[in-house]
Amino acid sequence: MDVKPYLCRNGIPPMKTTAPRLSTGLLLSLALFVSGTIAGKTAIHYTVTIPDPASSRYVVELSLTAASDSVTLRLPRWMPGYYQLMSYADNLRILTCTDNQGNTLKLDTLATNAWRLKGVKGKAVTLTYTVDARKQFVANSLVDKQHAYLVPAQSFLYEDGNLDRPAIVSVKLPEGWSSIATGLDTDPENPHRFSATSMDVLYDCPLLLGNLKSLPSFKINGIEHRFLGYDLQSFDGRALMTDLQRIVQAAVDLMGDIPYDTYTFIGIGPGNGGIEHLNNCVVSFTGQGLDTEEGRLRNLHFLAHEYFHHFNVKRIRPVELGPFDYDRENRTTQLWVSEGLTVYYESVLLLRAGLIDSATVLKTMEAAINALENNPGRHHQSLAQASYQTWEDGPFGNQGPRRGKTISYYAKGPVVGWLLDMRIRQASKGQYSLDEVMRHLYRASKATGRGFTDAEFQQTCEHYAGADMSDFFDYVYTTKPLDYTACLKGSGLRLDTLTAPTGRTTYTLTRL
Ligand SMILES: [Zn+2]
Repeated sequence: MDVKPYLCRNGIPPMKTTAPRLSTGLLLSLALFVSGTIAGKTAIHYTVTIPDPASSRYVVELSLTAASDSVTLRLPRWMPGYYQLMSYADNLRILTCTDNQGNTLKLDTLATNAWRLKGVKGKAVTLTYTVDARKQFVANSLVDKQHAYLVPAQSFLYEDGNLDRPAIVSVKLPEGWSSIATGLDTDPENPHRFSATSMDVLYDCPLLLGNLKSLPSFKINGIEHRFLGYDLQSFDGRALMTDLQRIVQAAVDLMGDIPYDTYTFIGIGPGNGGIEHLNNCVVSFTGQGLDTEEGRLRNLHFLAHEYFHHFNVKRIRPVELGPFDYDRENRTTQLWVSEGLTVYYESVLLLRAGLIDSATVLKTMEAAINALENNPGRHHQSLAQASYQTWEDGPFGNQGPRRGKTISYYAKGPVVGWLLDMRIRQASKGQYSLDEVMRHLYRASKATGRGFTDAEFQQTCEHYAGADMSDFFDYVYTTKPLDYTACLKGSGLRLDTLTAPTGRTTYTLTRL
């Protein structure tokens, strides 16, 4: 295990915030639109049509030139960001498979989500299939009379063993629909034609189709940040984007870099949840609640969370989360870092953006402590186990037969993250904080292209704390109760408890 890049104090130079530029990725995309190839890899072409939006179904025509005699096409079984196996293939129905002469080609079914063609080397193959899209959820495609939300993992078959093959997606909008929001690169000659330099990029960029509303965009260091949404209610879009700009600026100041050419918030309308991507996020968002202070802050926390994820999980990532295997669970014990610390940084960013005060941050931590400490699952499942077993338990802990035996890394993660931040500050006598850990991991990820291991995360924390932290990391890897008194020592804070006759304990954070 090579941990050197993570421990080298001076080995990785600090990065300056980047100015707008024609990135290598953008140059590759432009070449892809013109030639249909990158580095000798020929693109798979997908054409999406929605002949009858009322049917909640779309048609995908996949065209490729087979590079080998046998080609296996597979539909992902999950989408990164939502750590549950999905039955995407249940919604897919193959219509036809032909060569360029119009001859029908035989497809062998290998699995519910995999099909094989044989004897096709050098042939142009066209596969046409439909996708049913009726479920309103951020990890599922949805089509109705007014709009369509296309989850790429549910929509586009990949060629087995060839995830680095580029892709070109053409969309034929139904009559009366005007716009498309996506993080994919757009063909300068055709606003409805998009490219991805690999299937990983394609699966990272959902598409939202319909008559979308655009909020006033803003630039940070010359880089544009957009918000496009479907079914946005009436609210002050400029005020929201001003708040969002302050949050993004706080995140950029924290990390010292903007690693994308443009960023797009994609609001998919009513529902719950959001999913992060490298240069965009998809949020179930209508603007509802923005007219109250509580609702405004709830929305800003949500948007800050999804935005910060492009750093923490998409780039600062557990080593197991990339390159992805789309055909099975990708397990990691570190979702408490990816999700829990992102929840913690929601408050940090809003505080630094001047949108909340420190008393509000403490109230948020107090609520998380109450949720955690009143869940008996904390005696049965560690943070690391909750991360690893999320594929069975769900993102918020098991709500079925193991209810009360599991925890949510969304609840314990931010509490441990907050205490970890304080521990590093205390141990380093105020010289370092969790910020240095995040920046270090980000720089290491950018330099090496790989994620961090469990040991590397702990070693990076210990590096900045200047002390062994194995006792603290028992809070991650065991069910050892959190010792708030010890953790809050010297912080100027005290945690009081009051247990009601019902047995429920109320925890109150007080400034000394
Ligand atoms: Zn998240």
